Amino acid sequence: MKIITWVFGEKCTVCNKTHTNRKDSNGNRVCYDCQIEQKIAAEKRLKCPKCSHMMEKEFIEKTVIDKCPHCGGVFLDDKEMFGFLHAALIPHGG
Ligand SMILES: [Zn+2]
Ligand SMILES: [Zn+2]
Repeated sequence: MKIITWVFGEKCTVCNKTHTNRKDSNGNRVCYDCQIEQKIAAEKRLKCPKCSHMMEKEFIEKTVIDKCPHCGGVFLDDKEMFGFLHAALIPHGG
């Protein structure tokens, strides 16, 4: 139905399941979840400055952070820090 397409968008070209109006930087139809996956995949993985273990990317509150699974350290660059702190200031119910 045409109205459904208009309201919910078209199928995500990545997962081919979710309907979305989002587009990535290349103009491809991509749903929110897949966009996050792409964003994480695009980010360079860094070594932990503390223990030199390879850090993992994690997506928290619309912000990609570097998390070290070895020492549990979480690292952010300035841009990310702002996003993280901003998110942290918003109270979560419960
Ligand atoms: Zn998708
Ligand atoms: Zn570490």
